[in-house]
Amino acid sequence: MRRIPSTSVKNLDEVAARLAEHPGPLTLIFDADNTLVPQGASSAEFEHRVNAVIDRFESMASVERVIVLSNGPQRGADRVIGRGNKPWTNGRRLGLARRSATPIWVIGDQVITDGVLAWRLGAEFFLLAIDPADDYPGQARMRRLGRFVAPLIFRKTGVSDPPDRSGK
Ligand SMILES: [Mg+2]
Repeated sequence: MRRIPSTSVKNLDEVAARLAEHPGPLTLIFDADNTLVPQGASSAEFEHRVNAVIDRFESMASVERVIVLSNGPQRGADRVIGRGNKPWTNGRRLGLARRSATPIWVIGDQVITDGVLAWRLGAEFFLLAIDPADDYPGQARMRRLGRFVAPLIFRKTGVSDPPDRSGK
């Protein structure tokens, strides 16, 4: 089975640092809940934080497009795709051109939704580490499942190398 590059990150600053070194262009797909916004945030906070992240990453030279995807309901922010149906969302739903040569980076906190979506899209994946002390039981259960799935779909990488999308 073809595996995709995967890197663990502690925060979005680490992703931004990697982007600063990348020539681009890239499409970024962010998970919303627990990646950009803590679970249970008010819709005002959700909208504020999501828009701030979109603005921040859209302004980077190597970034062509920023997509924020949530499996939760559509909340406030009109720049978010709600009810994202991860990991089964397809490129058409995301407005990605078929056979586009633009590499995709997916940034999320759950392997079995965000990571599997990255794998399906032939993207590179960045797994955001979550402090177990802050975790919700349902999320923690999904995270444990993710540990079994990760070795099947990821090859660990410390360096930025272009993802191989040819096997798709
Ligand atoms: Mg999440």
